[in-house]
Amino acid sequence: NLSEKLGAALKKLKGKGVVTEKDIKESMREIKLALLEADVNYKVVKDFIGNVSERAVGADVLESLTPGQQIIKIVNDELAKLMGSDSARIEFAKKPPTIVLMAGLQGAGKTTFCAKLAGFMRKKHNKRPLLVACDIYRPAAVKQLEVVGKQIDIPVFQMGTQVSAVSIATAALEHAKHHGNDFVIIDTAGRLHIDDDLMQELEDIKAAVNPDEILLVIDAMTGQDAVNIAESFNARLEISGVVMTKLDGDTRGGAALSVKAVTGKPIKFAGVGEKLSDIEEFHPDRMASRILGSGDVLSLIEKAQAAFDEKDAAKLEDKIRHNSFNLDDFLAQMQQMKKMGPLTQIMKMIPGVNAKAIDNADIDERKLDRVEAIIKSMTMRERENPSIINASRKRRIAAGSGNNVSDVNLLLKQFEQMQQMMKQFSGGGLGMRKLKKKK
Ligand code: GDP
Ligand code: MG
Repeated sequence: NLSEKLGAALKKLKGKGVVTEKDIKESMREIKLALLEADVNYKVVKDFIGNVSERAVGADVLESLTPGQQIIKIVNDELAKLMGSDSARIEFAKKPPTIVLMAGLQGAGKTTFCAKLAGFMRKKHNKRPLLVACDIYRPAAVKQLEVVGKQIDIPVFQMGTQVSAVSIATAALEHAKHHGNDFVIIDTAGRLHIDDDLMQELEDIKAAVNPDEILLVIDAMTGQDAVNIAESFNARLEISGVVMTKLDGDTRGGAALSVKAVTGKPIKFAGVGEKLSDIEEFHPDRMASRILGSGDVLSLIEKAQAAFDEKDAAKLEDKIRHNSFNLDDFLAQMQQMKKMGPLTQIMKMIPGVNAKAIDNADIDERKLDRVEAIIKSMTMRERENPSIINASRKRRIAAGSGNNVSDVNLLLKQFEQMQQMMKQFSGGGLGMRKLKKKK
């Protein structure tokens, strides 16, 4: 897949002390192929490669100590830039309700996303959403919206299938005003292909309700076609943003990379599963590092090996076995980990770990820095034997490391819990040896 291919292309650069223009050219050729194979639009690829090459061949990179790493960073930056530099947000109306018109082909995931967005807006922005059933061509469509609305307890406004979509949308706004709904989401009909009737109807609804947002829902699995679809809808409706659904599937990812570059309209949300809670705000930088870095087990192993040699591992095992793992060892462990790169990036590389969950977990690397500062403010005796750390020592350590006494207390408590865990680990017979065998 795209991640693996890009990883392979960049890996050759990674270890190199000196990178020549020829090396860069070779890698760029591989990256280009990987992107094209992943269905990224040709023109987008061409510009992308141009930008990366220009920056990569720059004297700074070639003469720097870690040219390979720098080029990887450039690729990462440029990927993020392709998808828009900042995370785009929903524009709320100055005077409620905010009106969102959903558009897209049949099966793209509009109806599902309407409900997802309603749940999201209620939870994150305290909104009182109203869902509006304007897909009048299939009776089942109205029913479907009612079903998903019910699942998350969001009201659905519908007038059956005998009234025009424009009339329903207009009546829904009246209803919203009288019922205190400050966020109105209009579900519309899709067709299998873009056709004039569909576009005309959407234009009519747009003219009637003057929406704050027109979101185009695109199935990430449509590949190259996604770009054409986005261009056609944008030309007629002037959309305000894109929702990329089914990003959880085994997609080639090209659609997400091309849409912003071609239409100029940002991806605002991603659908990442069939459940109504499977919605994410779209962050270009996170998507870029996901494309470059997720599941890259090989590079994790590389990093881990470089940072942690066998001898250290044996020493650590011995310490744990003899219950003599102290705060100084803890500090050394943390520093080892840091050598491997940002913690979040490392966790994502562990097979079976859900990269999205980690992005959402908001892991605070600064907390690790704080722990490090606190331990460094301790004397060696204190590190070896934390029980001597009394109130006045705590005050000294806190002041020395620029923290509060409560931070010191928290660290000591956590360390104590960790020691307890390690004791169980080495005492119960199910020790490190068993774990090691599995490797
Ligand atoms: P609509 O025709 O555009 O209204 O599309 P629907 O909302 O009815 O969705 C079509 C199908 O795609 C349904 O089976 C949904 O469960 C599925 N679907 C929608 N969004 C996602 C998503 O983000 N991930 C996955 N895996 N399936 C999705
Ligand atoms: Mg639908």
